[in-house]
Amino acid sequence: MTILIAGGGIGGISAALGLARQGFKVRVLERAAEFGEIGYGLQLGPNAFQTLERLGVRDFMERTAFFPNNLIMQDAVTGKEVSRIHLRDKFLKTYDRPYAVIHRSDLHGALLGGCRALPELVSLETNSGLKSFKQDKGRVQATLDDGREVEGDLLVCADGLRSVGRQNIIGDGEPRVSGHIARRGVVPLDDVSDRRFIDDMVIWVGPNLHLVQYRLRGGTVLNNVCVIESEEFKQGKTDWGGMDEVQRTFEGTVPYVQDALKFISPERAWAMCDRDPHAGWTRGNVTLLGDAAHPTLQYLAQGACMAMEDGEVLAAKLSKRDRPIAESLQLYESERYLRAARITLTSRFFGHVCHAGGGARDLRNHLAGQRGDQNFFEVDWIYRGINVAA
Ligand SMILES: Cc1cc2nc3c(=O)[nH]c(=O)nc-3n(C[C@H](O)[C@H](O)[C@H](O)COP(=O)(O)OP(=O)(O)OC[C@H]3O[C@@H](n4cnc5c(N)ncnc54)[C@H](O)[C@@H]3O)c2cc1C
Repeated sequence: MTILIAGGGIGGISAALGLARQGFKVRVLERAAEFGEIGYGLQLGPNAFQTLERLGVRDFMERTAFFPNNLIMQDAVTGKEVSRIHLRDKFLKTYDRPYAVIHRSDLHGALLGGCRALPELVSLETNSGLKSFKQDKGRVQATLDDGREVEGDLLVCADGLRSVGRQNIIGDGEPRVSGHIARRGVVPLDDVSDRRFIDDMVIWVGPNLHLVQYRLRGGTVLNNVCVIESEEFKQGKTDWGGMDEVQRTFEGTVPYVQDALKFISPERAWAMCDRDPHAGWTRGNVTLLGDAAHPTLQYLAQGACMAMEDGEVLAAKLSKRDRPIAESLQLYESERYLRAARITLTSRFFGHVCHAGGGARDLRNHLAGQRGDQNFFEVDWIYRGINVAA
């Protein structure tokens, strides 16, 4: 059986590795000229570690990831702590795996390395964007951007937010633009003078804004992400979310937060998008995976984690080789659909919680302040991970 995967991001590459470890031949068709990831950080819950362990790359992760002591939420206007989750002791006992932060290239590189170690099973092909596909008698013919035709027994579209596969299968057009815009910056630790939160993952929350900071690469650099919920977007402006709007939105925050904006690179911004949950990602021998299937806002830090879980479930379902492929793909989708939907909708809700102002902010601070640092109830269903069966 030959499996075609369109898209070599974290979702596509981890699926390729999982499938190859089951003995399948996989061709990864990536549109870009090179395989790679952007140079910023990712948070990984214990659920992702479960998957990475089963993919055989956990040891590498241990060496390159950073393991914060706490997840801390601070009020960006008062400077006071809102809540914290302690990530040692009870957390480790409960989930048996850590919470980690990692450079995207390190994670992607580990997965890619796993694929490269299986050259007889995984073919990694760049400049191979998927343009369209058709199915006939249990085979899938894919047409690439440059007109080449490739054929396989099934096609997994892991081609991200604006997936070609999704438009063919679901056809729901452009994703939902949230009006939240992210900007990032990674700086050497030597540039950071105020090191109060240096061993933690800290999120500073305020009306229509937040700032996240954590260390990467064994703790040698600091990853910074600032997000605003743009007023200019709500007003219908086309050039919304510029650095000037970021500065204005952060005006009322404490000096620590305002100072951290100097770490943010003004060059690039990410307009945050998601989609309403939608069943029916699978048609015949073609299915979707990762952001192509269920793009989410980043408020639970689970988009990449869900993409990796998808790959694991897909490989498990296909491992039952005496079942028709289309049936295995349907089983994969039905096992993933509601968990991913819950992530998408809860992430939207957490966005409101983070960016709350007025009474909502008071209520958030009051309730979160009561929960204690050993209480994981909001994330327990995520971090417990998944049981994977054929
Ligand atoms: C600011 C921000 C912070 C985030 N933080 C976290 C976090 O802390 N933790 C977490 O788990 N997630 C986080 N996410 C989400 C995470 O980045 C995504 O969910 C994840 O990268 C999705 O992976 P993917 O492989 O499905 O899609 P993508 O990463 O989009 O990869 C798609 C790949 O397909 C290729 N491609 C596109 N079109 C085609 C085509 N037609 N043919 C072939 N190839 C194609 C692309 O070049 C790309 O390589 C965050 C996202 C953002 C924006």
